[in-house]
Amino acid sequence: MRNTYFCFLLVFSMFGLGTDTAHAQSAKKYSILIKGGHLIDPKNNIDGLNDVAIQDGKIALVAKNIEDKLAAQVVDATGLYVTPGLIDVHAHVFFGTEPDHYLSNGTVAVYPDPITLRSGVTTVVDAGGAGWKSFPTFKKNIIDNAVTRVLSFMNIVGEGMRGGEYEQTLDDMDAKKSAEVALQNKEYVVGFKLAHYKDADWTPVKRIVEAGTLAKMPVMIDFGGDTSHAPLSIEELFSKYLRPGDIYTHVFTELPVRDPIVDLKTRKLRPFVPEAQKRGIVFDVGFGGGSFNFGQALPAIKAGFYPDLLGTDLHSQSVLGAMKDQVNVMSIFLAMNMPLSKVVKAVTSEPAKVIQREELGNLSVGSVADVALLNLRSGKFGFKDIAGNRVESTKRLECEMTIRAGKVVYDLNARVSNLNKNQ
Ligand SMILES: [Zn+2]
Repeated sequence: MRNTYFCFLLVFSMFGLGTDTAHAQSAKKYSILIKGGHLIDPKNNIDGLNDVAIQDGKIALVAKNIEDKLAAQVVDATGLYVTPGLIDVHAHVFFGTEPDHYLSNGTVAVYPDPITLRSGVTTVVDAGGAGWKSFPTFKKNIIDNAVTRVLSFMNIVGEGMRGGEYEQTLDDMDAKKSAEVALQNKEYVVGFKLAHYKDADWTPVKRIVEAGTLAKMPVMIDFGGDTSHAPLSIEELFSKYLRPGDIYTHVFTELPVRDPIVDLKTRKLRPFVPEAQKRGIVFDVGFGGGSFNFGQALPAIKAGFYPDLLGTDLHSQSVLGAMKDQVNVMSIFLAMNMPLSKVVKAVTSEPAKVIQREELGNLSVGSVADVALLNLRSGKFGFKDIAGNRVESTKRLECEMTIRAGKVVYDLNARVSNLNKNQ
């Protein structure tokens, strides 16, 4: 009898303790408070010290001083920049193990999370990996599994970016079918991609713009080319074919099969380029493994031309080359004297606008709590282009923490631990 009574008391007190702890947690107004950081939120014109409170996976409050005791977890962001979760508008994440499938369910693509979340990226747009035929596999294998939000510029080629002859097949570039499947998957498809077409023929461009017009979505153009003919004119592309809001990627490439934005003889920015940008043509870096040259970027930036988007062109080769990751690409543009506020805008609110997902890329109250904490380190750093040219800088951005939908998914220096929980 005595033993039973003792056990009852023990169970009761354990139950009571559990309830008190749970109560203390739920009594907190915020799950996470990011404290003392320098907030850059271009959409809301915020560039200064601010605290950010998160609750239920959403931004709950942005203010100069939010009390520690209101939050279950306080993240000390002193000395760090706090930005909306970064949006990489040009990535290749349709990873798979099919042989010879290149960037469409193949091994040249990468699974996003281990790279994106470590570099502050919470949203990626896969640039043409899937076409309308392969989109269901892409959704099932990647979109539905990744912690990173994965969106798609659907390839105008039905088979997607399988490489070789697949991308040269005009018969598989079906504007109507592409638009139809894009509209059926509007939650994930945000535009269309054309890539690597070799012939001097405008038909693929016409097809993709037709798909974009039918679905009311932007298109992204990656010109192909071939040494057997002169490259297609980008001036003609911008003035005759693309609509405001359409994207030209690999803007700083200097390949012999591409028409460059900076004249190769005078090293001056060609005047029709900033004019096209003024008319609404969008310029993406798309750094990749072979598409970024200082010989193009430095004169362009010196002339006041900044890219609208800092897409990485992430794939299994570019991550090991000069590109590395999103924060490295941002650091390269800082090294070329692009202001930090413009660099952050080109990976947050601007891509959100271009892909017509303006609920993303900002820290407005009520927005999803996708947040990046970035450390602008001082030291001696070097950056390469794809030709091996080097630029030095005293600054490098490093990702310190990534929060996705209110959960800490990457934490470089263990800023969040059980010891600093407010209970
Ligand atoms: Zn690409």
